[in-house]
Amino acid sequence: MNFKNCRSVLVTGASRGLGLQIVESLATGGFSPGKIIATVRNPATAQRLQELAEAHPNIYIITLDVVSQESIDKAAEEVGQLLQEEGLNCLINNAGINVVADFQTVTAEMMVENFRTNSVAPLMITKAFLPLLKHAASRGGAGSAGGMGIHRAAIINITSLLGSVELYWGERANTFKWYPYRTSKSALNMVTRCMAVDLESEGILCMALHPGWVRTDMGGQEAPLSPEESISSILSVMGELTEKDSGSFLHYTGEPLPW
Ligand code: NDP
Repeated sequence: MNFKNCRSVLVTGASRGLGLQIVESLATGGFSPGKIIATVRNPATAQRLQELAEAHPNIYIITLDVVSQESIDKAAEEVGQLLQEEGLNCLINNAGINVVADFQTVTAEMMVENFRTNSVAPLMITKAFLPLLKHAASRGGAGSAGGMGIHRAAIINITSLLGSVELYWGERANTFKWYPYRTSKSALNMVTRCMAVDLESEGILCMALHPGWVRTDMGGQEAPLSPEESISSILSVMGELTEKDSGSFLHYTGEPLPW
């Protein structure tokens, strides 16, 4: 993991699952960022996160319900006061939901619900935190002559291989017939690519990362990867990102995935 030159990281959905593991692995890893901002929609019930924050003073818990614009704006203001001119180096859009429905059962409401959390929220959160990302990008990054990456300013959207249109064909098309989830992650992939194009000139990297199939509430207990294994791998991938990875869609192992 190479977070040596990354001063601040913000993670959404840090109450449990992969978001919580990102916070824990960053806090206990060799090079812990100066500030780890763990956002959750209900801090009172995020007990494990509260315990971690008590043990690690560089964890800051901020309330953020990703589908509420009011909550997003309030969180951006609070984080702005915390980081000030230093800005934000790394924004990880991790919070997500899986509204399971196939062709027979899917409704318009289910589609919209999944889109709001998985595709729309990362876009609106990025817009709200953009001034802080720009501050960090304009400082050029610690220990480097510029370039792009988490040492400077980066947006990591936690997506899924299930959002790949190209991979969903033939034998694979018999599995996971989840309309709301799959399409919401395909849309997130396009949001990622659009933002990468729009923010490149600001020196802000934007990419989509698949964490693998992981044993969380969403992934289920039959998944092959533990949260520790997935996060150790994706933090290594994040630490190595450079300008060539802007606009990419990567597997947790670092290999490119087809859109
Ligand atoms: P979990 O269901 O275990 O955790 C989801 C997290 O998202 C929780 O912290 C939850 O908070 C949060 N969340 C959901 N809605 C909101 C909201 N409106 N505001 C704030 N937080 C919210 O899922 P995972 O940890 O497994 O998944 C994390 C990400 O990884 C997701 O984007 C998922 O799609 C992706 N992913 C996961 C895979 C897996 O195998 N696990 C595979 C591929 C992708 P709360 O506790 O308040 O509900």
